[in-house]
Amino acid sequence: MRYLPLFFDLQQQSCLLLGAGEVATRKLALLREAGARVEIVARELSPEIQAQLDDGTVIHRAETFAEAQLDGKVLVICATDDAALNARVADAAKARQIPVNVVDDPAQCSVIVPAIIDRDPVTVAVSSAGTSPVLARWIRSRIESLLPPSLGALARFMGSKRPAVKAALAEVGARRRFWERFLDSAIPNQLAAGQVTQAEAAFTAQLAGTPSHQGRVVLIGAGPGSPDLLTFRALQRLQEADVIVHDRLVPEAIVALARRDAERIYVGKCRDAHSVPQAEIGALLVRLAQEGKIVARLKGGDPFIFGRGGEEAQVLANAQIPFEIVPGITAAAGCAAFAGIPLTHRDHAQSVRFITGHTQNGQLDLDWAHLAHGRETLVFYMGLGATRTICQSLIAHGLPAHTPAALVEHGTTARQSVRLGTLRTLPDLIDGAASPSLLIIGEVAALHAQLAWFEGNPDAAPAFRAESEQRRACGLAEAA
Ligand code: SAH
Repeated sequence: MRYLPLFFDLQQQSCLLLGAGEVATRKLALLREAGARVEIVARELSPEIQAQLDDGTVIHRAETFAEAQLDGKVLVICATDDAALNARVADAAKARQIPVNVVDDPAQCSVIVPAIIDRDPVTVAVSSAGTSPVLARWIRSRIESLLPPSLGALARFMGSKRPAVKAALAEVGARRRFWERFLDSAIPNQLAAGQVTQAEAAFTAQLAGTPSHQGRVVLIGAGPGSPDLLTFRALQRLQEADVIVHDRLVPEAIVALARRDAERIYVGKCRDAHSVPQAEIGALLVRLAQEGKIVARLKGGDPFIFGRGGEEAQVLANAQIPFEIVPGITAAAGCAAFAGIPLTHRDHAQSVRFITGHTQNGQLDLDWAHLAHGRETLVFYMGLGATRTICQSLIAHGLPAHTPAALVEHGTTARQSVRLGTLRTLPDLIDGAASPSLLIIGEVAALHAQLAWFEGNPDAAPAFRAESEQRRACGLAEAA
């Protein structure tokens, strides 16, 4: 950020304005709107400026600049067309640490004036850091059209009600939720329509009906890794939350989308190393909600697919905590799309199965005969450590050894890599593969060779392609 935006309180403060042409006239209007007292240095005043000298807040200080004019000034604006004079004034102001703006000359400025959207007391300032005032004005016009003229009245109404809300709702979070609901209610529209009596009545009713503590939990599917695969609802709920409870599969870039002041609690789990036991996570969610907090429980992928979301929802239901489930893109869908492996295909797979490859005491207790019937795509979650067992068991129960099989590592992220082989070859191709990885077995996996379009980090693309070509060659040689 090249400039720090701040809002400057100029009420009754003394400013120096150099110049009295068209630009200076506009700057004078701006300074006066902000309540400043303005001293003008210019040879000649335009009639428009002349007319403003009457009320005492604007004076014509002198015809030429002298350093003493800077005494007691909090801001200097140079709006003359004399570049040398502007530079001299700017230097003098800077030497005294007085903020100075030279119109259309960012290099001379210590402060720059943004494009302003004024819905007093709401003010939006837009800056392109001097790179393109036209762009800043274009953005301003866009924002102008978004913000109704009644916004100022709404802000004043809200300001006037703050003491009442503070008295009724002791907890900060409860007050924030009250105001969020207020903004979504009919009251802002009533105020915009000038129906002040109705708005007052609705406000009183809304405040009386707001419990001071009402926590809830939102189980949010954060998708398979790439932040832009979050749903709009996931993002919205995340930004409403007071506390974020997240685990290992949720990348930092997604957690960072929460409100800056939201508390973050990490309950990460690694394979075979559960850092916070599930029962404790459930108890934590209940406790936080009982404290009146809005809790976002962020989970990788979809909460109800191998995410233990069902168990957590049951704990909440038993404790009578209000909760909501926001679905997410599950790893199978994300990895399949980004690896070019359609999970079903008219010619190759009429169904798809999501299976856990998580081992209990090194054992994988699955109905292999049932799984090995072909024309179906098998997706193993948490199956990296058991890849060899899975492939060998499927062959032993009748799936052809040349059935295509792919391992998608870090699917959908810049680090994604795909290893393609067959049931026979894949176990020998996965050296060094890391979690999270997803195993996709079935004829559709071979379509990766034709449909892969995403190579993660574009800089790494040639290496990726060469590597996966090689894997394809060795993996599929057998199938041919
Ligand atoms: N609820 C999650 C799954 C949690 S189980 C979902 O719906 O996706 C964890 C397993 O999901 C991992 O062991 C891995 O098999 C898979 N997984 C999750 N994200 C992944 C990713 N980005 N790439 C590959 N596999 C992933």
